[in-house]
Amino acid sequence: MNLRQQLTKALFYTSASSPDSLPEDIGNEVAFAGRSNAGKSSAINKLCSQKSLARTSKTPGRTQLINFFTLSETNKLVDLPGYGYAKASQSKQQKWIELLEYYFAHRQSLRGTVILMDIRHPFQDADLAMIDWCSHHQCELHILLNKVDKLSRNQSFKQLKLAEKQLSNFPKELVSAQLFSAANGTGMDELIKKLEMWFDK
Ligand code: GDP
Repeated sequence: MNLRQQLTKALFYTSASSPDSLPEDIGNEVAFAGRSNAGKSSAINKLCSQKSLARTSKTPGRTQLINFFTLSETNKLVDLPGYGYAKASQSKQQKWIELLEYYFAHRQSLRGTVILMDIRHPFQDADLAMIDWCSHHQCELHILLNKVDKLSRNQSFKQLKLAEKQLSNFPKELVSAQLFSAANGTGMDELIKKLEMWFDK
């Protein structure tokens, strides 16, 4: 089955709340991260052509967990907990940081991380921390400047140029960015190409 077909068949697999509850570290994984409300769930649902796949990750009690979805025997999508949520308690945030730190430092199957940002206010502190984190662990990352449908073509390309400038501080082979809309599917082909590259690595 090709990746597009695998995506439509994505199934919830398991959740992890701590390093010792992570599933076995085998095969290939691509993780999705983003500030709460950036559109991560919408993007995963659109990517998989499934209306409520990532709703699993939004059910109360699951929002602070790492949620795994199987695509094939070897491939998984990983929905990382949304960050930058002001209401989360200090102890919850600390637990989240520890889990994520462990995940990025140890996960052998991680091929790359997609980071969702709202194109109207990208590169907030928490996003920059996430980018630092990935590149520190030599993890490739691909940024989706999401909700491009909210801006004019001109404004969108301006934002993309600004993003590319921001990213020029990081190793070129590790980072990339594109325009995206989980609402209307803009940029979907480009995203799937990136995922194919990562899963084939
Ligand atoms: P998450 O918290 O990152 O999982 O974000 P959600 O997927 O729940 O999206 C947050 C809000 O942004 C919802 O109201 C979505 O309908 C909206 N949204 C997500 N993606 C887009 C997009 O590409 N365009 C527009 N206009 N709205 C979007």
